This record gives sequence, structure tokens and C-alpha cells, in this order.
Amino acid sequence: MNFLWPLLLLLVIAGAAFLLRRERRLRNGFERQISELNQKFKRATERLDEERARLETTFSGMVEGVLLTDARGDILHVNPPFREMFGLKGKAEGRSALEVLTSVAADDAIRQVIQNGEPVEREIHFEKPRPRVFQVHFSPVRRDGKLSGVVSVFHDLTEIRRLEEVRRDFIANLSHELKTPLTAIRGYSETLLEVSDLSSEEFRRHLETIFRNAVELSHLTENLLNLSRIESGREEVLLELIPLRPFVDRLLERFQSQAEAKRIEIENEVPQEAVPLQADSTKLNQILANLVDNALKYTSEGGRIWVRSEVSGKEFRISVEDNGAGIPKADQERIFEKFYRVDKARSRDSGGAGLGLAIVKHLTELHGGRVRVFSGPGHGSRFQISLPQP
Ligand code: ADP
Repeated sequence: MNFLWPLLLLLVIAGAAFLLRRERRLRNGFERQISELNQKFKRATERLDEERARLETTFSGMVEGVLLTDARGDILHVNPPFREMFGLKGKAEGRSALEVLTSVAADDAIRQVIQNGEPVEREIHFEKPRPRVFQVHFSPVRRDGKLSGVVSVFHDLTEIRRLEEVRRDFIANLSHELKTPLTAIRGYSETLLEVSDLSSEEFRRHLETIFRNAVELSHLTENLLNLSRIESGREEVLLELIPLRPFVDRLLERFQSQAEAKRIEIENEVPQEAVPLQADSTKLNQILANLVDNALKYTSEGGRIWVRSEVSGKEFRISVEDNGAGIPKADQERIFEKFYRVDKARSRDSGGAGLGLAIVKHLTELHGGRVRVFSGPGHGSRFQISLPQP
């Protein structure tokens, strides 16, 4: 029996060794599997991170605002342009779209997409944080065929709409300006053609009216062409040194008969010893001619006009002042707009279309300068242009 013990012991040891090896093999296999799983998981998260970063970069690089909401209309994500458009300070995620957009129309559109699963496109006016108009595309987002949310893309149309309005106003104003002289020309020429027994005096008066209106029309087109050339940015400024005193003397000669007809005195108070100023002489001539012409138009008989100059630091200032009608405060900012006139009837009587000051402003700004007005009703007006000097 004694020989059996060692045999048994050997068997036990062999069994234990076998079990140990199997367990090690199993453990190794298990560890390998876990490590492989780990690797896969790591790769998947890296891919997800990359995907998210790519999306984030795309969203951030867009000029459009992007808002992603879940199927309840709560915000999941917004991009930086959206934050800027709606003046968002804190976190948007988790808040409702309605709360952030403060627009029932936009919220309605999101609800409609959630309900029907179809994209919607709307032009929506937003009042906050400032009035703006956006074209918004609301599209459904699906996961595994099920609607999981809505992505809304906001395209800012405010500037386009503003420019369209400016163009519409411009055309309306221009048609109006053209209509009055054209109606007069047509009416008076019809009378000349159809009425045979006009006295020579009446005939002459009618012809004069036609002539006056034709001149007005050619003035208008000239000014419009001028403005469009300046606004197109093609106009160049050719700087030269101008001795101002004789320059103003020459300019005022052109207005002498107009001034005498209204018994208005124009004084050139530019100092004889004034240093020459650097400017484009043709443009400076246009600027000052428009200002003197206005001063004459809006000053009553027996009035006075002064042209003055001064140097202040690196600026050369020229002013045209009158003791005429003056301009109400509320209109002072707007008189530099095209076609803007304070007293429509009065300005029309004097042949104005409201383009003169727009030209003055543009030409002054082309020099890098600015124009200002100091005035009050009944207290005359002073238009001052400041031109930077080297
Ligand atoms: P307009 O051709 O009508 O004179 P402007 O652009 O030159 O057009 O001027 C715009 C408006 O500004 C004028 O219609 C007038 O109401 C006002 N205005 C301009 N200059 C004077 C002035 N010196 N005194 C009073 N009002 C002025």
C-alpha cells in the first residue's frame, strides 16, 4: 500500500499543475479580451471626440447662428455666432428655445417640425437684443429613424432688408423729384402747342417756365451722377496746396448777381495771411459752392453771409455762416441724407432736390474730414468743414 502514496501525491500535483495552467490560460485570454475591449472603447471615444471637435469647429466657423434642440424644444447646443446674435451671456443648454429666442413665431416653427418631422423655412423678426430680421431654416434631426430634435440655422437678413428699403426710398424720392419738373414742362409745352391765341408775353412766360424746369432737371441729374460717382468709391482725391483767400474770392464772384438780386452781402473773412491748405481744389470748390448756394437760398432779403477759416491743431476749418432761417435741432442730423429737406415747399421753390449737403458730406469725408452744422431756427446757420492737414 505504501507505494500508492507517492503515486497519489504525483497525481494531485499533476492535477493541480494542470488546473493552474488552465486558470492562467483562461486569465490570460480574459485579460486579452478586456484589453481589446479597452482599446476598442478608447478608439470609439477618440472617434467621438474627434467628431465632436469637427462639428464644433464647423459650427463655430459658420457665420450663421445654429441652435440644436431636443424633441421637447429644450436647447442641446448653440454655436458662438448664435450666442452673439441673441446676446447670450450664460449657459444656453437646458433652457427652452422660447425662453432664449423670445419669439413665439420661432417657437411655433420648432414645434411644427417636431410634430410633422418636415423642415420649415421662415423669415422672422426678432426684437431682442435689438431689432433684426432672420431667415431661419428649421430641420428635423433623426436618430435610428426616430425624430430626436430640431436644428435651426439663422441667417441675418437685416442689412439686406435695410438696403432694399434704402433703394425703394431712393427710387420713390427720385420719381417724385422728376415728376414735378416733368409735369410742368409737359403742361406748359401742351399749352404752347394747343393754344393759338397766346399773347407774346404769355408765350415768353411759358417758355421761361419750361426752361427753368429743364435747368432744374439737368441740375438734378448732374448731382445724381456726381453722387453715384463719389459713392462708387472710384473718385480720387488729388491734393494740392490752395491759397484760400483768393480761392474764395473767385468762388464768390460766381454768386455775386444771385446775392445782389436778394440784396444779400457775402463777406470773405478768410485772413489774407492764412497758410495754404491741402485739398482737392475741384472738390473744395464743389463743397463751398453748395454751402454758399444754400446760404443764399435760405437767407431772406437783406441778409448776410460770412466765409471764415481757422487752423486748429492739424485741422483746417472753413465755415459758411448766414443769418437766415436756421434749422430745427431735430432736422440737423438728417439734412445730410439724400433728398432730405426741412421745408419741402420752400426748398423746391428754390430749385433744391435735397442732394447738395449729401454731396458736401461725401466730398469732405473723401478728404478724411467731417462737416458739422451749428444752427437754430431764427438764429442762422453755420456749416463748418474740417480737413486734416499733414
Ligand atoms: P436742397 O437742394 O434742398 O437745398 P441740401 O441737401 O443742400 O438740399 O440741403 C438739405 C436741406 O437742409 C435743405 O432743404 C434745407 O431745408 C436745409 N438747409 C441747408 N442749408 C441751409 C441753410 N444755410 N439754412 C437753412 N436751412 C438749410
